[in-house]
Amino acid sequence: MKVLVIGAGVVGLTSAWYLMKHGHEVTVVERCSGPAMETSFGNAGGVCPGFAGPWAAPGMPLKALKWMFKENAPLKFRPRLDPRQWSWMIRFLANCTAPRFAENKARMQRMAHYSKACLVALREETGIAYDDAAKGVLQIFATQEEMAGGVRAAAVLERLGVSHRLVERDGIAAIEPALLAGGAPIAGGLHLPDDETGDCRLFCTRLAELLAERGCTFVYDRSVLRLVRSRGSIERVVTTEGEMQADAYVIACGPFAPALLRTVGISLPVYPVKGYSITCEITATERAPRSSVMDEHSKVMITRLGNRLRAAGMAEIVGFDSSLRKGAIAGIRNRVQTLFPDAGDYHEASVWCGFRPMTPDGPARVGPTRFNNLFLNAGHGSNGWTQACGSSRILASMISGEKTSVRILYS
Ligand SMILES: Cc1cc2nc3c(=O)[nH]c(=O)nc-3n(C[C@H](O)[C@H](O)[C@H](O)COP(=O)(O)OP(=O)(O)OC[C@H]3O[C@@H](n4cnc5c(N)ncnc54)[C@H](O)[C@@H]3O)c2cc1C
Repeated sequence: MKVLVIGAGVVGLTSAWYLMKHGHEVTVVERCSGPAMETSFGNAGGVCPGFAGPWAAPGMPLKALKWMFKENAPLKFRPRLDPRQWSWMIRFLANCTAPRFAENKARMQRMAHYSKACLVALREETGIAYDDAAKGVLQIFATQEEMAGGVRAAAVLERLGVSHRLVERDGIAAIEPALLAGGAPIAGGLHLPDDETGDCRLFCTRLAELLAERGCTFVYDRSVLRLVRSRGSIERVVTTEGEMQADAYVIACGPFAPALLRTVGISLPVYPVKGYSITCEITATERAPRSSVMDEHSKVMITRLGNRLRAAGMAEIVGFDSSLRKGAIAGIRNRVQTLFPDAGDYHEASVWCGFRPMTPDGPARVGPTRFNNLFLNAGHGSNGWTQACGSSRILASMISGEKTSVRILYS
């Protein structure tokens, strides 16, 4: 079967990978000049099933309200005259109940653990290298109140059977010794030893090379403008350079998926939630993290990627405003400087922002649509690097008419 995958981020490329493995003839069309130039470019680098879960949680509305009046808060909300923003917010709030949270969290956990196993298998099969490491992730808490939240999170992990360990300061010293040298207040931490790290963009670039070697066609610098339907199917797509036709179509456009789907009357509840990252060379290796640290206080994640250090954070609900807000970047830079002083030259760091494709409830939208040859793989939010391989593998087997692990998606 000829399959057209729209979007060459981590979700589109992994979709192409598993579709090729099912023997399909795959073309990837991408509006940028290469792979992973949007959200998959500069993320925090965490492949963290242990952390996978919805942002819509009990207590979140109150927390968000407090953050709105705090300078340098990790969340910023700029109301717009955009009904999509408001309807997304209302659905987000409706998902902040304990039962909705529990259900959404369980679904995301299932997908994330399955996905990590798929990524490990892909890595073993191909030998793909992407500044990856399997040394776990340490979440740190600055206050006793944050630590109490960590204890609650540990109880959930216990129920889900996820390996974890609550640690005090001496435990932290053994896992990330440079942290204590920094002198920032740290009450304790939660260590997830099975989580991994890696540069998502490097993974995408190398995966695109492997795909091309195996016969996948890439069409860059071409934007799909609209889908054209004919009764119950998609007949073709109109692009900036003519039309393209396939037997099946996969929408893997991340935060940009809703605009394309609207051209055939499908409403996808995905809203862009902007985040930032800075990346610099590590100049003092003993002062840098060994693996990855998630700082609960600032919601900044700091990850070693080979000989580079990446720090990422902030959540801004401001539509597709791609300006690099100085205050946000300074906030991330100051936090990493406090936790890992002088590990790198933070003022020489490259800066980036991208849009998390967030659904209001948390889980991505993976699967068929009302058109029999149109499939979705979008809305992976803050966990797309973690969940890409799993959701793409499931989607590829669905498209191929195989019995899939649907339980991972829905039950
Ligand atoms: C600050 C930040 C930190 C993050 N940290 C992590 C993390 O540590 N771990 C984790 O798991 N996830 C993380 N994420 C989330 C993760 O990066 C995303 O979920 C993931 O990259 C989404 O991938 P995607 O392929 O769906 O979207 P994208 O990477 O945005 O790819 C979509 C592609 O579709 C193309 N496209 C769009 N419209 C069209 C069109 N009409 N025609 C042709 N091409 C089109 C775009 O150009 C783009 O290349 C983070 C995100 C941010 C912003």
